Amino acid sequence: MENCIFCKIIKGEIPSKKVYEDDRIFVIEDIGPQAPLHLLVLPKKHFANCLDMTAEDEALVGYAYRKAGEIAVQKGYAESGFRIVQNNGEGAGQSVFHIHFHLLAGRDFTWPPG
Ligand code: 5GP
Ligand code: ZN
Repeated sequence: MENCIFCKIIKGEIPSKKVYEDDRIFVIEDIGPQAPLHLLVLPKKHFANCLDMTAEDEALVGYAYRKAGEIAVQKGYAESGFRIVQNNGEGAGQSVFHIHFHLLAGRDFTWPPG
């Protein structure tokens, strides 16, 4: 989608630190890391968030979520634990309206989140 930062990153029009890519997802380091490991798992298909998602996106979202876990394990965070976060709407902290999962690890996390 035009004027979407993450679509531009996926197309290579904006540089990013890519850690993984396949036909369905693109995984990059977050530009403003909130933990020693802070990756963004971007489905290549553009839609804003769970409110903008259709039934045909269910497999893609499930895939992105599973891959986030797989990458956390590959990076050595299976035992320490890790957090997968997905914000919906400005009030919840969403700033880029292209669906993405944050993968955070490498420090202690509190609950409830801020
Ligand atoms: P949200 O606030 O929508 O849940 O998450 C958006 C995330 O994208 C933020 O953590 C922010 O730091 C990150 N971000 C915004 N612009 C860029 C960019 O141009 N490159 C990268 N790698 N991350 C970005
Ligand atoms: Zn997009």
